[in-house]
Amino acid sequence: MPERLKATKNDFEEFLKTLVYKEGDQLLLLYDLPAMITPHFTLASMMDATIEAVGWDKAREIMYKSGYNIGYAYVSRLGKSWGIAGEELIKRYLRYENVRGWGLWEIIDLDVTTGKATIKGHGGVRAEEGLLFGSFYRGKGVRKYADSFFAGLIAGMIHAATGKKVKGTERRCFAMEDTYCEFVTVPE
Ligand SMILES: [Zn+2]
Repeated sequence: MPERLKATKNDFEEFLKTLVYKEGDQLLLLYDLPAMITPHFTLASMMDATIEAVGWDKAREIMYKSGYNIGYAYVSRLGKSWGIAGEELIKRYLRYENVRGWGLWEIIDLDVTTGKATIKGHGGVRAEEGLLFGSFYRGKGVRKYADSFFAGLIAGMIHAATGKKVKGTERRCFAMEDTYCEFVTVPE
C-alpha cells in the first residue's frame, strides 16, 4: 500500500535542531551548510527567467540538471549525517522534503536494486495540489509538464541512495490538469 511520506511532529522538531542561526557570523545554517528560507515563487521565478532567456524545452533541461545535482549532493550528505542508505534514506529524505515545504511525496513502487521507481508528488498542505512549478504554471494557464526540477531531484536522490544512475521523467503534472504530479525513474 503506497504511503504518503507526511512529516511528523518529530520530523519537524528534528529539523528545527538542524536549523541554527550563528549570531557572530549572521549566518543561517542547515546541517552546517549556509541556508536560506524562501517562498515557493523564488524557484518559480528562476524557471520563468530561464524560459524567457532560452525557451521552455531548454529551461526544462536546465531545471532537471539543477534538480539532479541538488538531489544527489544533498541526499549524499544527509545519508552520511543520518548513517542510512537505500529505501530508508529515500523515505526519510522525502519526509524531510515535506517538513521543509518541498511537497508531499508518495512512493508507488521502488526497487533499490535497479533504481526503478514511481513516485507521486503532491503540493503539501492542501490535499490535492501539484508541486510548486505545476501549481505556478497552471495558475498562469500553461498546460505543460512543469516539474522537471523535481524529476531531476528524484533521479539524483535515487542515485545517491542506491548507487544506481537513473533518468527521471514526469509523466503526470498538476499543470496538465492532473490532480498530482508523478515521476518515474529508469536505469540509465
Ligand atoms: Zn508537475
